[in-house]
Amino acid sequence: MNLPDIIIAVDGCSSTGKSTFAKLVAAEFGLLYLDSGAMYRGVTLFAMEQGFIGQDGSIDQAALQQAIGQLDLHFERQDGATKLHTGARCIESEIRTLQVSGYVSPISAIPFVRSWVDERLHAFSEGGRVIMDGRDIGATVFPNAQVKVFMTASEEVRAQRRLEELVAKGQNTSFEEVLANLRERDYIDSHRETSPLRQAPDAFVLDNTHMTLHEELVWMLGLLQGKFTLLEGSLSC
Ligand code: C5P
Repeated sequence: MNLPDIIIAVDGCSSTGKSTFAKLVAAEFGLLYLDSGAMYRGVTLFAMEQGFIGQDGSIDQAALQQAIGQLDLHFERQDGATKLHTGARCIESEIRTLQVSGYVSPISAIPFVRSWVDERLHAFSEGGRVIMDGRDIGATVFPNAQVKVFMTASEEVRAQRRLEELVAKGQNTSFEEVLANLRERDYIDSHRETSPLRQAPDAFVLDNTHMTLHEELVWMLGLLQGKFTLLEGSLSC
């Protein structure tokens, strides 16, 4: 199936299934998948490990700003998946804990952190053929992205999906704890001053509350066929 060298932006609230959807679309169309949230999580893990986040949750922004230049965050292909690394260390599982989730929204609201991440996202995407998920990709990072999707789902469904994901990874948590974290992140993400979570005006909304992944892919195929002339019309899964 042929797609031109485009950038696809996938945005939405927390736990709407953006990364699962984007990874599938990437595999289907041979695109590079980039997870912008992983970058913010990577900066957060760095700030935690360097001791820049106090017991009370306060962030030593001056220290973080001084040290962030030494941080080498990049994606590497491993076992067919793209995994976040700092130097040679794979931090894919460390960045997914609830502890990192608890600090990531305040960290990602800091303007110098956003410009540091945005610069890298642009460098990683050079040449196009990329699908990237996040909160502000279609509205701010790549306002000229050729295809923009804004994902949404009911809060309960989102919390349940995230809970199952965390439990499957052996993390000890509850539905209430996950729901509270999801609400808090959505609030901070959509109310911050710099580049808040926004639906780009030209984004297509995908509400997957009652959809299977296959149905989401069929929806995407329809969208892409409407925009581009695809040579073949069937999904590989
Ligand atoms: O996508 P994920 O839930 O892993 O993102 C973690 C956090 O990173 C979000 O809650 C948000 O605070 C931040 N983020 C952001 N802008 C993006 C992607 C993620 O602020 N483009």
